[in-house]
Amino acid sequence: TMSTIPGVQKVVLIRENGGPEVLKYEEDYPVPKIGATDLLIKNKYAGINFIEVYFRKGIYPSEKPYVLGREAVGEVVAKGDQVDKYNVGDKVAYLSASTFAQFTKYPQNGHLIKLPKDISAEKEKIIAGSLVQGLTPLTFIDEAYNVQKGDFILVYAAAGGVGLIFDQLLKARGARTIAVASTDEKLQLAKEYGAEFLINSTKDDIVEKVKEFTNGEGVAAAFDSIGKDTFETTLQVVKRKGTIVSFGNASGAVPPFSINRLSPKNLKLVRPQLFAYVADPSEWEHYSSELIRLIDSGELKITISKVYPLKDYKEATEDLESRKTVGKLILEIPE
Ligand code: NDP
Repeated sequence: TMSTIPGVQKVVLIRENGGPEVLKYEEDYPVPKIGATDLLIKNKYAGINFIEVYFRKGIYPSEKPYVLGREAVGEVVAKGDQVDKYNVGDKVAYLSASTFAQFTKYPQNGHLIKLPKDISAEKEKIIAGSLVQGLTPLTFIDEAYNVQKGDFILVYAAAGGVGLIFDQLLKARGARTIAVASTDEKLQLAKEYGAEFLINSTKDDIVEKVKEFTNGEGVAAAFDSIGKDTFETTLQVVKRKGTIVSFGNASGAVPPFSINRLSPKNLKLVRPQLFAYVADPSEWEHYSSELIRLIDSGELKITISKVYPLKDYKEATEDLESRKTVGKLILEIPE
């Protein structure tokens, strides 16, 4: 009942843009008030994604104060008068802003997945860590470039959260993945998850290596989440009529670019974001149910490498931004 819901809560937020020092863990932030068609979700685990770094730095705009977070698993603890799809007590996973918080307000028609009531805590962690980083490769390999069996595909940050999932899904599709990562340990992990060819970005020449692996032809598509530092390299390694999927800014945003540069090889350039591939309810239903099916069947492994308490998000993002981490990082939200 409503009476068990406190007026204030613990959250991680920013009040200004900047480095990790602008992150605040606050214990008396107001619990949101819900409207007639909203749910109030009590979060248990929230996934950490690189996108939080962009909001914090101001690469992506946000209102202030801004509670960080993009996904979580939790329980419905209150609902508006007109909510008919969910009940108090339902366990849910969902994509939303402001999940680095004990409570999140979310519309019943949002991007939600109903979970079994008896779901284990271990499984809740995995689902909380699977949404953004799982749905991104799952949608991109169909929609940004429809990957075909036998295609050479370049994946940067191939041992990161998104990267380990790309490795597995591309392998399942019969593509030949060329993994780029900054250490041999990361590359070994990418290989275990399905990558066939390995490039160590700290010591190898990416263009030369791709030529070698593809008999001089280049890749059918490159999934580039690094942005500024790699865009020129990516232009060179994609084959004639190939596709560049530029989808992140880990090293900074890609500077303005003249479209004429696509002409010599008749390249396609896509700059997608996950949310615009799952905007329609039918798209959300299709991809989210496929994600859960892949996890439940064991075809897709979600690798949680560390769980941090909510108050330690600053440490978590410092690890992520200094390229120390592999796989997924998640936050445990205090009760
Ligand atoms: P990762 O776990 O992949 O971490 C980022 C990785 O990027 C690092 O581990 C590092 O791997 C690599 N990297 C290369 N250069 C830098 C740099 N200068 N600073 C920091 N890291 C660098 O993060 P996520 O899985 O959360 O996200 C991966 C990428 O995908 C991000 O760019 C993210 O924004 C993007 N993304 C985009 C989405 C969209 O809808 N467009 C949705 C989800 C993710 P290494 O050391 O091996 O180079």
